[in-house]
Amino acid sequence: MTFDRREFVTAAGAALTAGAAAAAPKPRSAAPNYRRIATEEAFAIPEQFEHLRGLVDTVEYDPDLFLGRFQLTREPLHRRLLDLDNERLKIMDENQVAMHLLSLTAPGVQQFDADTATGLATLANDRLAEAIGRHPTRFAGLASFAPQNPARAVREIDRAISRLKLNGLIVNSHTNGEYLSDPKYWPILEAAAALKAPIYIHPRAPSPGMAAPYREHHLEHGVWGYQAETGLHGVKLIVSGVFDRFPDLRIVLGHMGEGIPYWLYRFGHSHQVTQAFMDRPKLQLRADEYFKRNFYVTTSGVNWLPPLKFCLEVLGVDNVMWAIDYPYEQTPESVAWLNASALPPETLEKVFHRNAERVFRLRAA
Ligand code: MN
Repeated sequence: MTFDRREFVTAAGAALTAGAAAAAPKPRSAAPNYRRIATEEAFAIPEQFEHLRGLVDTVEYDPDLFLGRFQLTREPLHRRLLDLDNERLKIMDENQVAMHLLSLTAPGVQQFDADTATGLATLANDRLAEAIGRHPTRFAGLASFAPQNPARAVREIDRAISRLKLNGLIVNSHTNGEYLSDPKYWPILEAAAALKAPIYIHPRAPSPGMAAPYREHHLEHGVWGYQAETGLHGVKLIVSGVFDRFPDLRIVLGHMGEGIPYWLYRFGHSHQVTQAFMDRPKLQLRADEYFKRNFYVTTSGVNWLPPLKFCLEVLGVDNVMWAIDYPYEQTPESVAWLNASALPPETLEKVFHRNAERVFRLRAA
């Protein structure tokens, strides 16, 4: 199971870090000190966990609750999700990470009923704004909202961006098996586009309609299900015509684009062929062109140079941002692989911070 391995990696990483710290007082490497802004960094609030505990105790099978049980019980994960002032900043400092772009951990408020979810989103956004207020040079944040009630979601989005000055929005893929491509959610997309707030579509386990084949070998999570679910969400947004209606809407996908960059040629080509036989409005652009125009990707959870080079070539150096996925992934590894990449300094500057500063309207250092 992924988490056993992950915890092994955690333990190994911690041991390595401790050893290095003992041998040499400063972990600073020879790598240039880029301003490192990590763009998919999770936190939790106690009230979210209280409601999650209620689900864990009553729901028999829900692949998202597999993650939920870890969030509630496994250390250091549980502790690190709740911390916005101590260990998180220490780990950032030790690894020369300037800033976390924070977001409420998956699946956020989307597994709760509409009223609970709407209340929790508001509370989480207030807490997030407070944490940014305490550490304005170290944190920025993406606002939560509850798609379960689109009208109230629009009001919260407006409050979070206009009043709390948060830097964008986070959604954890499907909501009760529905996707933002459904016209009932278009007011949310319209608000995001009008406020110039990018929507980060973060993974959660596959929606009920596609979950069954994933269950047998426990594939619902980072093994395969997360990227299949979230990639599907991105594709559905494109083919539904959302970006013809809201051309200014910007979407961010983690994990090197959840597979879409690799399939981009086939996606665009095949859609062009099948669209000719479909009784629905034609897209103004070829499907793959929206991905290049309206999407950004981050490196979260994929500390591997080949797909990064591929994304830089296919999407361009202005459309890829660095991320750790703290505290699920380990900060030293997430920094080290990109430091060691030998990419041109101007590319690394964009991936480590300039693109994030532009996309999320962060203050330049
Ligand atoms: Mn994540």
